[in-house]
Amino acid sequence: MNNGKNPSILITGGTRGIGRAIALKLAENGYDIIAVYRNNDIEASDFSSKIKETGRNCKLYKADLTIEEERVNIINDIKQSNYKLKALINNAGLYRSETLDSLNLKDWERVIRLNQTVPVLMAKDTHSLIEDGGSIINIGSMRGIISSVEGLSYQASKAALIHLTKSLAKSLAPKIRVNCIISGFIKTDMTSPLYSDETISSAIESITPLGRWGEPEDIAEAVNFLISEKASFITGQGIIIDGGIGLIKNM
Ligand code: NDP
Repeated sequence: MNNGKNPSILITGGTRGIGRAIALKLAENGYDIIAVYRNNDIEASDFSSKIKETGRNCKLYKADLTIEEERVNIINDIKQSNYKLKALINNAGLYRSETLDSLNLKDWERVIRLNQTVPVLMAKDTHSLIEDGGSIINIGSMRGIISSVEGLSYQASKAALIHLTKSLAKSLAPKIRVNCIISGFIKTDMTSPLYSDETISSAIESITPLGRWGEPEDIAEAVNFLISEKASFITGQGIIIDGGIGLIKNM
């Protein structure tokens, strides 16, 4: 794939949903793609074909990033392959709808590990491979800002990710810029229980000032901007992309 000269994007959870749209957008703009996924080989294979149709290379890693040994194997392989990275996109995430009374420690720790700990470990292990002027983008959520009685582990992990974005931005400046996308409702498999229910789906549309669900491409466009030269004075920021839903007081 990469001979060490052409810059690549390393993206976790790149094969479906938001990650897939980000990877396709960046491949169209000339980057090779290195994507990590966990299970879904059919989606991964389709994704790889789509990336190759853009004329770029696609390297896939199948691993559960919450298992440290599997994560470290990927890092070691990437280091040995002499990739030059333009950006690390920490996108893989997991939502659980637990409440205070239904939460259990095992599930709590799995969400915190994937959504909060893995992004920091990925940044620690790959920043030396990222070129000068490169970026780390963390995919956060409005749930990290607005509280709810459901999804406590998710909210905690995404709130931490917004703060960690600032810490990492300071740690890695001036070589690497680190920013967070704070996303509202986007149509992906993660939210299909919501948008496939007509009542819930239209309730979400009606409380969204811009009157629609977000599409994965809405996030991809912002990532494309943030890793570009046009954003070269932006670091440590959380960019809210939510159709204005966060402006509603009682969400
Ligand atoms: P999806 O569930 O549609 O896709 C998740 C991707 O992550 C898949 O490629 C999946 O691989 C991969 N993945 C999941 N767990 C692991 C793991 N343990 N190790 C490696 N890869 C893993 O998610 P979305 O596209 O909806 O979400 C992407 C990010 O955006 C997440 O961080 C999410 O929290 C955030 N977000 C999403 C919002 C939304 O409305 N959709 C709103 C706000 C934030 P596989 O296909 O093999 O399962």
